[in-house]
Amino acid sequence: MATTKINLSAPIYGSDGTGIVPNNADERLEPAGELLSVVQQAFRRQLRKAGQQGDAMRAMFDIGEYGSVEFVGQMPVGYTHVRLDPDGRRDIRIYGHPSGKFFNSAAKFVPHVVFLLRLKVDPCECDLCGH
Ligand SMILES: [Zn+2]
Repeated sequence: MATTKINLSAPIYGSDGTGIVPNNADERLEPAGELLSVVQQAFRRQLRKAGQQGDAMRAMFDIGEYGSVEFVGQMPVGYTHVRLDPDGRRDIRIYGHPSGKFFNSAAKFVPHVVFLLRLKVDPCECDLCGH
């Protein structure tokens, strides 16, 4: 079973991350590696989707039916993971999008990761880019 290794922080992908993390109450930085593994899981779930969506995703990255993806290195440059912890709940927030808004789950961040990995040739389909 072939595994394609992808380094999201490689300069070739030209991340659009701003590196801006607002200093909000109740938010705290998470270890950098933790988000990478969560994003990897979300990305793999999309690769494994049945039907057209999964097929398109596998074709995009030239991944066969039984292939997978491993993210090595770091997050896309300028994207930072914090947790909002107001009352025991642990909500994920991913800052760094040029809009100044945040992604509130790894699954929502994946379309933007795909956009970066595709070198921005297609319009981004994430919620924050507004397509
Ligand atoms: Zn986007």
